[in-house]
Amino acid sequence: MPSEITRREALSGAGVGAALGVLSTILPGSAFAAGKSEDNAVDLLKLPALPYPDDALEPVIDKETVKIHHGKHFAGYIAGLNKNLEALAKARESGKFDDIKCISKDLAFNASGVVLHWIYFSTIGPVSSKAPTGKLLELINRDFGSFETFWKQFAAATKTVEASGWGVLAWEPFSKKLMIMQAEKHQNLTSWGAMPLMVCDVWEHAYYLKYQNRRPEYVDNFAKIINWPKVEERLVTYCSI
Ligand code: MN
Repeated sequence: MPSEITRREALSGAGVGAALGVLSTILPGSAFAAGKSEDNAVDLLKLPALPYPDDALEPVIDKETVKIHHGKHFAGYIAGLNKNLEALAKARESGKFDDIKCISKDLAFNASGVVLHWIYFSTIGPVSSKAPTGKLLELINRDFGSFETFWKQFAAATKTVEASGWGVLAWEPFSKKLMIMQAEKHQNLTSWGAMPLMVCDVWEHAYYLKYQNRRPEYVDNFAKIINWPKVEERLVTYCSI
């Protein structure tokens, strides 16, 4: 992170970042607590350590994939976000906004990539909690009929994301309902305001070493490493249910 720009300055002055405005309120706490500041906000501009060893997701996701995914790809989005915020600060300083379109596009890509990877790595883990419980289960039953039906829809949506993207379980705050979305890249096809609760990364970098073109097999196995108590924690902590 560039020393001349503090996180607070960067965020408060970002302006273009509708996405950034919600970042500090939607990120998971305890798993990635190291980057938290006094006001309980999460520092998105530094790569958080993995909350488990890099071989902890075996055999569903192999150690090498986790290492590259976290250490190179996730780190890359964080570096990109830093760069974009620095460019915006410079633009404000100089009063020249010639590159604003390009920076804004890049900012949406990187900020969304950072948020989704925070959620991804913190809501999976070696804990085998086969299904949700509590409030989350209650809402899944209410909005999808049953957990089995929910999972069928989530898996179908995730397996058919066009090119690189994500399957997303989200909280839609206006109607106060759970919804399943596909996201292309990190930032396309999202519904404004929806709070992501649990996500499945289907960029090839998330599974290719082990699964090659067998995305459906990866998604089916992904069910075994979802840390449902963490997903419920996100629901209860960050959504006004
Ligand atoms: Mn990824």
